[in-house]
Amino acid sequence: MKVYKFGGASVRNADGVRNLKHIIEGESELFIIVSAMGKTTNALETVFDAYRTGELKSAEQTIDSIAAYHQQIIDELFGTEYHLGSVESLIDELRRFVTTVPYDASRAEERYDRTVAFGELISTTIISEWLRSVGIANRWVDMRRCFVTQFRHKDANVLIEESSPLLRRKVAGSAERVFVGQGFIGSAADGSTTTLGREGSDYSAAVVAHILDAESMTVWKDVDGILNADPKRFPDAQKIDALNYVDTIELAYSGAQIIHPKTIKPLQNKSIPLYVRPFGNKEASGTKIDGTAEDVKLPIIILKGNQSLLTLRSRDLSFVLEEKFPIVFSILERFRIKTNLIHNSAVALNLCTEQSWRLKEAADALQAEGFDTAINDNVELLTIRNHTEEALKSYTFSERNIVKQIDGQTVRVIMRKE
Ligand code: ASP
Ligand code: MG
Repeated sequence: MKVYKFGGASVRNADGVRNLKHIIEGESELFIIVSAMGKTTNALETVFDAYRTGELKSAEQTIDSIAAYHQQIIDELFGTEYHLGSVESLIDELRRFVTTVPYDASRAEERYDRTVAFGELISTTIISEWLRSVGIANRWVDMRRCFVTQFRHKDANVLIEESSPLLRRKVAGSAERVFVGQGFIGSAADGSTTTLGREGSDYSAAVVAHILDAESMTVWKDVDGILNADPKRFPDAQKIDALNYVDTIELAYSGAQIIHPKTIKPLQNKSIPLYVRPFGNKEASGTKIDGTAEDVKLPIIILKGNQSLLTLRSRDLSFVLEEKFPIVFSILERFRIKTNLIHNSAVALNLCTEQSWRLKEAADALQAEGFDTAINDNVELLTIRNHTEEALKSYTFSERNIVKQIDGQTVRVIMRKE
């Protein structure tokens, strides 16, 4: 069995879906994991925000535009006379949920998961039905029935032991040998839908590969492979042909938009190679990740956007970190705030976090614990691995640096945005 993962950017329109078919043609034992089409998850987050703040009209308008966007892809793939009842039912279900189930702030993350999961349910339904209509027999798999996750909404991990028999049974019992499943979603033991963290479809594919002892996993992306920097920001970026698991985890953790950081472990544990290959060029080899590649020597530059700088000061100037750390991090955990860099001094703690609609609430909770707090949303996080004098000179800008940390090979800088 091979596992292929296709991201939202690849299947953002009908041409992308046709190209997916071109890529999978000829494969006989294949599990495909697909994300939501285009920017659908962002649109669903907008729906959720409107639902959360009671603006149901606006939530419905966004649902209308999500419906229209998918309808256009369906029309192009199947022809305008065709009605895909299964997608219409999903849209109806989403609309019914948002308009009839009252929002409950104490279950915010659970409600979020229920809303955003529709993106993957819709994309896989369209793709599975269309592949069938053009002669590729396949089985649509509801990953909520195969992935049992932690009881932790918005950022769950898959419980491999519990999930393995479910997924294996599903695959063993199917006459079709091409499977189409959703990335990003699963369900908790109580049956409620969970999500695995934004961009979590890579991780879904890795868990499928792990459970099914796949020979390989491939992520098809709109890049030539893994590069040492984002070519959109740094035009002299170079492709890396081979990477080991450890370097890849470091890169992913620092925010390289190549692969979700949770992806590597399930593959590494079973020595399953991971390929990152260009969606637009089936013949190109891309990057191979496994346990044998040598460490990368090239400086690797990663700029992570959507960051906030949260600064905490204790009011009595006695920042006794040993005592205060657990309080700080349990509050951040409660609001699902991810911290990417920690920098402390005697009186202040600087945290570079992912931007989140709950950061303000977390700051309020920290204030109640005796901290003064400040939030600065105008920052980004730069990481340079294998740094050289030259790389430091060209990529850090001292007038914009707020915090700079250096260890052996890696420099990390919280910078004010330009
Ligand atoms: N659709 C989800 C997201 O946009 C998951 C993924 O794309 O991997 O975050
Ligand atoms: Mg995505």
